[in-house]
Amino acid sequence: MAKAKTLGELKKSGYRRQGVRDEMRANLVRKLRDGEPMFPGIVGFEDTVIPQIANAILSRHNFILLGLRGQAKSRILRSLVSLLDKEVPFIAGCEINDDPLNPICRACHELVASEGDATPIDYLPRDQRYVEKLATPDVTIADIIGDLDPIKAARGGHALSSELTIHYGLLPRANRGIFAINELPDLAGKIQVGLFNIMQEGDVQIKGYPVRLPLDVVLVFTANPEDYTARGKIITPLKDRIGSEIRTHYPTTLEHGIAITSQEAWSERDGALRLTVPDFVRELIETIAFEAREEKKIDKRSGVSQRMPITCLENVISNAERRALTRGEKTAVPRPSDIYAGLTSLTGKFELEYEGELRGAENIARDVIRQANARVFKKYFDDVPLQSLVQWFELGGALKYEENAATADLYGQFKKIQGLLETTHALGMKPKDDPALLVSGAEFILEGLYALKKISRNEELGFYVERRTAEPISEPAEGVGRRHRPLN
Ligand SMILES: [Zn+2]
Repeated sequence: MAKAKTLGELKKSGYRRQGVRDEMRANLVRKLRDGEPMFPGIVGFEDTVIPQIANAILSRHNFILLGLRGQAKSRILRSLVSLLDKEVPFIAGCEINDDPLNPICRACHELVASEGDATPIDYLPRDQRYVEKLATPDVTIADIIGDLDPIKAARGGHALSSELTIHYGLLPRANRGIFAINELPDLAGKIQVGLFNIMQEGDVQIKGYPVRLPLDVVLVFTANPEDYTARGKIITPLKDRIGSEIRTHYPTTLEHGIAITSQEAWSERDGALRLTVPDFVRELIETIAFEAREEKKIDKRSGVSQRMPITCLENVISNAERRALTRGEKTAVPRPSDIYAGLTSLTGKFELEYEGELRGAENIARDVIRQANARVFKKYFDDVPLQSLVQWFELGGALKYEENAATADLYGQFKKIQGLLETTHALGMKPKDDPALLVSGAEFILEGLYALKKISRNEELGFYVERRTAEPISEPAEGVGRRHRPLN
């Protein structure tokens, strides 16, 4: 059947008016019955957050997501669009998407009165039924609800208080859809009152003039939990009208974290190089985020966003790309040392406690990287004998190489430490693997020994072992790799 183009045709088609809450509920009921995932692509919330959101929608509630930064709150809210019908009819030209059977704006009332069944109908796709606003202290009633427009009044010959003179704000424009406000506690009390009035009574005062706006909107919010519960941040009647408070969280397992990071990071590049990201590099990067979330010197109230491992992985890959390109290599394989190049994406992603401020963001990031190295290293090498490697350094061996050394160069140097390249078998590597991969694995072993304090590292000497006694230093053996002749 052709789509109705006029009010008369729409009535004949059997169209029934349905509020947006009922519409979302009906679509969710169908999804649940058919076993369809509610939010495909949102990982790690299947048993916690998503069932609670489903309940809120089945209850036809306005709701708020409480969580720290980078917990996919905005993404979840945007995904709610998938619970709307593909499109809905509205009165063509209406600024607030009026339902043809129940217009609320004055312009549409007048249009229907004069045109009757010939009133033209248009269709609103669902992605245009989601409006989002980040709350900041300078957001005004005019932004959110609307303003009286004296020019419009003068041109149309209307009284200033006439609804025809309203310049609608974001909320009325979200009519028949979803209106999301991020960081609700940052919204001025006066605007919270306005929101409450709309939710409660369907009317609001603009510049002292009462305006009737019985909107059909689902209101959803996000907030940091501490801000939300702080006294005086949210006016009580508004809090009272938010049907469900749902807590989000960071990934609870490393596997979930890696899955999210792998999904979100730009790691499928344009094919300029063959790219292989070893699993242990992904684990290292994710573990950095886990360690940072546990680190006492990092402020827990603001959290460590999932964007930290995502952007870190992107930078680590980019550093490997840059190295391969400048060294004329065809494959890019990130190494543990590339994570230091990713520092630029770590230090801005957390707030420090006082103690952390004293130590500085970069040092904290390095500490956390070292902790992560130790943790992942233990997982792979707990049962692997490493004493002979340590001994090489104890006997005076030192290994220094320049940042972003070419694969062949590094491979040659690592080969001189007996057993080092072979030990990468604990990472699932084989001697015939791409040298770029073996080099990355071998470097991880050195980083791991350093993280566990079995060997030391500094700018001057590279990796080495501190001599504890004043025993005479034996003559260096033939060739490179002795402490007093650092490599390179
Ligand atoms: Zn209208």
